[in-house]
Amino acid sequence: MGHECNAECPYCFGTKHEIIRKENLLTIKGHLMHKALNADLREIIPSISFSGGTGDPLLRPDLLESFMSFYHGIEPNLSKKPWYYLYTNGILADRKMIRQLKEYGFDEVRFHLGATNFSAHVYDHLAEAVQHIPVVTVETPAWPLHRDQLFEMLPKLQQLGVKHLNIGEIQVTRENRERIEALLPEAEVYQNGIIHLDDDGLVYELMKEVIKQGYSYSVLDCNSFVKGIQSTSGKWTLFEPVDGLCTGYNG
Ligand code: SF4
Repeated sequence: MGHECNAECPYCFGTKHEIIRKENLLTIKGHLMHKALNADLREIIPSISFSGGTGDPLLRPDLLESFMSFYHGIEPNLSKKPWYYLYTNGILADRKMIRQLKEYGFDEVRFHLGATNFSAHVYDHLAEAVQHIPVVTVETPAWPLHRDQLFEMLPKLQQLGVKHLNIGEIQVTRENRERIEALLPEAEVYQNGIIHLDDDGLVYELMKEVIKQGYSYSVLDCNSFVKGIQSTSGKWTLFEPVDGLCTGYNG
């Protein structure tokens, strides 16, 4: 969906300059159609997510509608219906937008609450989403400067009926390194394929609190080792080297 975003997270690891152009849409659809009709691929499309890695897909509801219509069209060629989900900072996820997402057939919406410093406005949007979308997840990073808001968030998620909390350490890239350093000059990083900001155990403290309070939502620790399973370790160090932090890629 491109990298356009309406938030300004200091830890954002992506560039914000690219957004998918309409003229490329047909080419992309044609490419996907070709792949989807390939017999091998029919077995391996478990889910389809909209994010762009960074950027907010709700800035382009026209493209969401177009892509979802395309995917629904090829569902008969797939071995099973994919799980459709998207990531958003929640700023634009008002009642009207949530109803649109429901109409487009989204199974899950993941909210990044930290992007707005856990604003009341986005909590309201989260509450609306829980009423209409089958699965609502909060996916927000273990940013040390959000420590208090993260703990305050835990009972609110239980009360709202959120199903999952995905939380993990921040990825350090060329884009965010200096911003993070300016805010957290004593911060430590480590490399496990990808470079990560050490959260000093914050994710585990949050998990312990959820268990202690008996909250019913799941908590997924999206740490670097989990991300390492999702992408090969050489891939990120090759394309996202962080000078002075990262060992070279020799693969
Ligand atoms: S919401 Fe996501 S894409 Fe937007 S600035 Fe924050 S981290 Fe970056």
